[in-house]
Amino acid sequence: MKVTIVGCSGSFPGPDSPASCYLLEAEGFRMLLDFGSGALGALQRHIGLYDVDAICLSHLHADHCLDLCGYHVVRTYGPAAPYPRVPVYAPADAPRRLADAYGMPDEPALETAFDFRALAPGTFEVGPFTVTAGLVNHPVEAYGFRVAHGGRSIAYSGDTGQSDELVRLADGVDLMLCEASFLDQPDLPTDLHLSGRQAAEHAAKAGAGRLVLTHLVPWHDTARVLDDAAHGGYDGPIELARSGAVYELA
Ligand SMILES: [Zn+2]
Ligand SMILES: [Zn+2]
Repeated sequence: MKVTIVGCSGSFPGPDSPASCYLLEAEGFRMLLDFGSGALGALQRHIGLYDVDAICLSHLHADHCLDLCGYHVVRTYGPAAPYPRVPVYAPADAPRRLADAYGMPDEPALETAFDFRALAPGTFEVGPFTVTAGLVNHPVEAYGFRVAHGGRSIAYSGDTGQSDELVRLADGVDLMLCEASFLDQPDLPTDLHLSGRQAAEHAAKAGAGRLVLTHLVPWHDTARVLDDAAHGGYDGPIELARSGAVYELA
């Protein structure tokens, strides 16, 4: 499995990265985890415009889903349109919410380009990947994911506050993509986001092989986020996510 960080900026795009988007590839199949603001542009550095085979959306905040609107244009009006519909695994409200964001009348909405499938906690197959979705702690319906292929696995937190479910999803994974939106300080809000220290604590409990801190908010000093994570009791390698970074898990 090959993992490419397309976008890792938290809450809105930054100068060097779009918002959340991760490209997973195996056996010629290409799946996106999240498709946040700006990701459609940077995605084209890595794969062709029409090469997306499936999309999983962790939740329906703009920084995780909004570029699905632009991608609807690509697949509905591109030079050889119509292109095959792409399965989109997302919270059940996604078709209406994204049609509203697009400014689309009720019918045919975005279904000309996408085959929406409502997420629920559990495990399902997407192409060659085994995907497990679990509810995490955020103000809206939000999922974290575990993705396995060929004996390797990753976990992606989506957006979450402290979460036992995230620890379960990340149990023994090779690579954990964990959000670290907050600078660490006392009395952080609950059920919203994690600090670098909390991300590292989750990685330690899960026994993850490698921790990549992501959803990095542009107004923060990322060196501070990394330093916070060094105080989370995790003894594996820790690094900051970077748009364009590639991890080959074989
Ligand atoms: Zn977010
Ligand atoms: Zn969010």
